[in-house]
Amino acid sequence: MKTRVVAVLLVLVAASSLTFAQDSQTLILEHANIVNPLSDAPVLNQTIVLRDGKIQSISSVPARLPGERIDLRGAWVLPGLIDAHVHLEGIDAAQRMLSLGITAARSMLVRGYADVGLRALHIRGDVDIPTILAAGYPVLASPVRFKPDISAIFLDHPALDDLRKLERIGPDGARRIVQAIAGRHVDWIKVFANERAGVLETDPSTRNLNDEELRAAVEEATRLGLPTAAHAYSDEGVMAAVNAGVRTIEHGSLITEPTLKLMKDRGVCFVPTLYGFSITPGPNASPQERALEPRVKLLLDRGRRAVAIAGRLGVPVIAGSDSGYVGDEPSVIDEVIQLASTGLSNLEAIRSATSLSAECLFISSAKGALKPGLDADLVAYPDNPVKDLAVLRKPILVINGGKVFLRKLPD
Ligand SMILES: [Zn+2]
Repeated sequence: MKTRVVAVLLVLVAASSLTFAQDSQTLILEHANIVNPLSDAPVLNQTIVLRDGKIQSISSVPARLPGERIDLRGAWVLPGLIDAHVHLEGIDAAQRMLSLGITAARSMLVRGYADVGLRALHIRGDVDIPTILAAGYPVLASPVRFKPDISAIFLDHPALDDLRKLERIGPDGARRIVQAIAGRHVDWIKVFANERAGVLETDPSTRNLNDEELRAAVEEATRLGLPTAAHAYSDEGVMAAVNAGVRTIEHGSLITEPTLKLMKDRGVCFVPTLYGFSITPGPNASPQERALEPRVKLLLDRGRRAVAIAGRLGVPVIAGSDSGYVGDEPSVIDEVIQLASTGLSNLEAIRSATSLSAECLFISSAKGALKPGLDADLVAYPDNPVKDLAVLRKPILVINGGKVFLRKLPD
């Protein structure tokens, strides 16, 4: 009788460990050449073990474990790329990011909290999309006068409707808008220090939120535990945002050296979004795009100069595409290449979309590097991307949270 009980127990133990082995989803990448952005030199011929969506180990010793094996035959592995500034509205665009090896992105303005919804889909594991840091709507001096139209904020937040009729929201309005957006569990708050550059109706060197509104918004976000990003172009706008306590400056093309020094002292990161300004209007460009051309060219020239000074001063420069990833819209890879053409080394440009970006966005405990315990977000390339950044355009393997999303390994 006793033996039978033991036998039954043994069967049960065996069955449960079998289930465990299946659930744990171990993936073993063999013969990988690793570019870890945290170190200066690549490490060759490594075995990477991924388990339960995390990197379990990286070693030169072959792993004798059960699990699915992928022989990379010397392909070059990077952590998944991070885009610090996107405008994602749907699943197709989010999956296009993944197919390019971009496994995390910070949303910087979208209507109807599409970014919060995409983040939830990713967390539930319902669809394969990148990790999303959501910001929802931005804080603007006059939400109804913004182009493109974001007055849907008053449909998402009917309790804010009295602000719709005001000329400016004022500091109290700024606090209320931050509270409302934070109530949707966003990760970041975006504030507008200057007007937009991409429409003729507004001048990017003029202020949007004034000093009091900016301070009130950043203070309220900080009180609620949220970091802030400032859309800013003019030196005065950037200075006001830095003094208010923001974490990142978006665009920032007209920054001067003293303001960059202040950013360095305060640990503020610079997201210059240069590539967007480098696109020249094609034959089918609209009259508006043509009319904007001189402005855009000026912002590119000044932005490139600002990035070069930032590099010299040690201000963290990180890659943001400002893209919606619809159709053939640009990607953060274009921005990485643009940053390298502005004076960053290839490895620094890669860091701007991996380890440094993760630090600036407060996600370095999970993203941006290859080490045990971090998320299993990896991309493999046929050649070393540090030698030639164009290689980033040809990922042959994309793993997102431990799941293979794209596999084009040569036979
Ligand atoms: Zn943007």
